[in-house]
Amino acid sequence: MRVVSEVKKLLAFVLCLVTLLACALPVGAESYVYVRHTEKYWAEPYYHRNPACAFSAELDMCESVKLIKCSAATAQKNNCRPCPICAYSFKPMFTGSFPKWKYKTPAYYLGGERHWLSASKLNKFGNAARMIEQWREKRSPSDYYAGVYRNDSGTYTLLMTHPLSSRANGWKRALKSDFWVIEAKYSEKQLNKLYAYAQKLMGKYKINSIGMDVTANRVAVGTSDNSTANMKKIYAALKAKGFPQDAVWIYKSQPGSTEF
Ligand SMILES: [Zn+2]
Repeated sequence: MRVVSEVKKLLAFVLCLVTLLACALPVGAESYVYVRHTEKYWAEPYYHRNPACAFSAELDMCESVKLIKCSAATAQKNNCRPCPICAYSFKPMFTGSFPKWKYKTPAYYLGGERHWLSASKLNKFGNAARMIEQWREKRSPSDYYAGVYRNDSGTYTLLMTHPLSSRANGWKRALKSDFWVIEAKYSEKQLNKLYAYAQKLMGKYKINSIGMDVTANRVAVGTSDNSTANMKKIYAALKAKGFPQDAVWIYKSQPGSTEF
C-alpha cells in the first residue's frame, strides 16, 4: 500500500510538472523560421529551421534574395511550407550505403548537371528515374510517390509523402535502384489533379502558363497579373475545388508565355 501511495505522489508530482511546463511554454516559445525573400515576394516554397540550410535556394530565379527571420505562422500564411531537409522530423535517407561525401552541399540537394560520383558508382546505384518511367508504364506509381530529381551526387532523390523506411525499401526492390528519400507534402497524384484543373483556368485571371514544379512539390501557375487582388482570385478558384493554397505557386509570367 505504501508503495502505491509513493507512486501516486510521484505521479501527482509529474503531472504538476507537466502542467507547469505546458503553461510556461507558450510564453516566448514562438518558433522562428527562416525564409528567402526578395524585396517584393517570398522567393521559395520552403521555410527553414536551420538558417544555414540552402535547400531550394537553387529555385530562386531572381537576384537580391535575403534570408529573413519570421514566425512559422507568418511563413505559412505566405505560402511557405516546412523544408523537407531541416524542418521535417524525417531526415533524408539513402536506401543503400552511400560513399563518403566530401563536398559542401549534401548529396540529396537539387543537383542538375553536376555528377560528382564516378560512372561506376552511379551504375551501382541503378537509375531510379528510368525505372520510375518503366514503373509508370506497368502500373501507376505508389500513392506516396511525389516526384524524383537528379541530385548533387548524380544519383536520384525521390520525394515521398508519409515516408517510412519500410516503404522506401519496398520501392528499392521495385525500382531495382538505390536513391535518397525526402519527405513531401503532396503526392504526384494530388498534384496531377490540381494541374489538370489549373489548365482549365488558362486564359482566366490572365493565367498564361501552368507547370509542374516537382522539386518544390507544387504546381506553378503563371499569370501576367500577379497583383494581390488577382492572386486572391486564383487561390479562391482553386480553393473552391478543394486545392490547398500551398500546393500552388503563382508567379508573374510574361504575356504570351506558353505552357511548359
Ligand atoms: Zn531547410
